Amino acid sequence: MGGVSITTTGGTEIMIKEEAIGVFRASLRGDILEPRDAQYDDSRKIWNGMIDKRPALIVRCAGVSDVLQCVRFARSHQVPVAVRGGGHNVAGYAMCNGGMVIDLARMRSVQVDPVRRTARAEGGAIWADVDHETQAFGLATTGGTVSDTGIGGLTLGGGFGWLMGKHGLTCDNLLSLDMVTADGQFRTVRATEHPDLFWAVRGGGGNFGVVTAFEYQLHPVGPVVAGMLLYPVAQAKSILAHCCDFLRTAPEELGVVAGLLTSPEGAQLCGVVVCYNGPQAAGERVLQPLRAFGTPSLDILVHSLANSPEVKKPLLETSRGGYLAAVSVSAYSLVALTRRLGPMMRRGGAVVSLTYMASERAIPGYGGGMSSAKAALESDTRTLAFEAGRAWRIRVNTISAGPFASRAASAIGIIDRMVAYCAANSPLPEALQAMDVGHAAAFLCSPLAAGITGTTLYVDKGYHSMGMAVDTAVQSPESRVPPSQSPIPNP
Ligand SMILES: Cc1cc2nc3c(=O)[nH]c(=O)nc-3n(C[C@H](O)[C@H](O)[C@H](O)COP(=O)(O)OP(=O)(O)OC[C@H]3O[C@@H](n4cnc5c(N)ncnc54)[C@H](O)[C@@H]3O)c2cc1C
Repeated sequence: MGGVSITTTGGTEIMIKEEAIGVFRASLRGDILEPRDAQYDDSRKIWNGMIDKRPALIVRCAGVSDVLQCVRFARSHQVPVAVRGGGHNVAGYAMCNGGMVIDLARMRSVQVDPVRRTARAEGGAIWADVDHETQAFGLATTGGTVSDTGIGGLTLGGGFGWLMGKHGLTCDNLLSLDMVTADGQFRTVRATEHPDLFWAVRGGGGNFGVVTAFEYQLHPVGPVVAGMLLYPVAQAKSILAHCCDFLRTAPEELGVVAGLLTSPEGAQLCGVVVCYNGPQAAGERVLQPLRAFGTPSLDILVHSLANSPEVKKPLLETSRGGYLAAVSVSAYSLVALTRRLGPMMRRGGAVVSLTYMASERAIPGYGGGMSSAKAALESDTRTLAFEAGRAWRIRVNTISAGPFASRAASAIGIIDRMVAYCAANSPLPEALQAMDVGHAAAFLCSPLAAGITGTTLYVDKGYHSMGMAVDTAVQSPESRVPPSQSPIPNP
């Protein structure tokens, strides 16, 4: 007899018949995953990789109706329920063993009312979704400090974030919510409707019901002055004490999170992350005492170019704004990054910029001022190396990489042809690997390259050194233009 084995809320094992599961499945717009399904294992993964729970059913809800069906089904069969919002809860409360997971990960839509300054977001949204939509109108509310946390668990737990000094906790900005309570009823909850429930969900955590939508008060926010100050862990005691003193009189526009962390390279660090929501000049002034304290600990700074909006236009069709945007995102961003972080770097530190050889080659389909921007970046590498070397004793170099099918390059749409062209014609025809670039960058940042600064290093299997491709049709005898027809006059 087919069916699904469930550990009920009473702790007994029961079998729900296949037929009942089928009726439940048919009532949904979303779908149900069981342990035998291919996507089951991926769907039970959450942020904390140590959590390994095995629900009997994962219901991927598509809307409120699905949530209602889930709660009603769970009630009638005594199935224990877990609710998955953003899946960030460290204890793994988004999953359960042997019961049903009401998975809201597909319910992430957000609507902003810019006149009332409110946002309404579905219960499975993450903060990146809400920030993305609200910032289109220059608005935001207090969300989490990282953008992939779910709004569900965070709001129900109170929610602290960068904006709380001025705008309070996330739950202080909660205007209303829609939820399906354990009796299987849909309720809109606000200060004037179900006030006791409204009180409970503002900080009381989960289990008061399944929230299908949250409505938040928004505030004008941005641009902000934000970033991270890093120090060797040996300085942590004095840095954290200084932070405490500093925060006693800091303005409410400033949000600060400080703690101990391990860098991806394994360095033990003390980090102070700041976000000032106000004019840049005021932010610089406010942050000055923090930035002036302690000994900086940055050794390596990696800059990567960005493509500009008109990247696919030929240079002749590029607007002035598009051209300047290309220079700004590629070349000026290296200048700005070096100026900002150079003072925080230790002597002997290395800045390395990653670019692509468009300054050397006319590449049809890759225009919009990008070749000019890259030429500027490579030229600035020399000047920056001089200035930053004199100022902070650090080195600045650039890697000009050959064609590589990265995500950004693929978006431009010509990269596959470039890779194929190189494979056919480069002196080293093996495809360029990300590791080739990584190894060269590691070398440039290491003491082995202590004497190298102001250089543009080609990592391209020799592509930059080629004059004409060996298989070019122009080289075949048939395609040679007779001198009499040549547009170039004979000397
Ligand atoms: C890297 C990281 C950074 C963090 N930063 C912050 C921070 O800056 N500020 C802060 O306040 N907290 C922060 N947290 C803690 C975070 O708020 C909680 O882990 C929170 O539970 C995450 O919400 P979620 O929806 O992603 O979690 P989930 O794991 O999906 O759910 C957590 C709990 O909330 C319930 N729940 C989730 N959504 C709903 C819903 N729609 N209806 C009913 N119940 C629901 C779940 O059932 C579960 O009990 C952070 C956590 C991590 C791992």
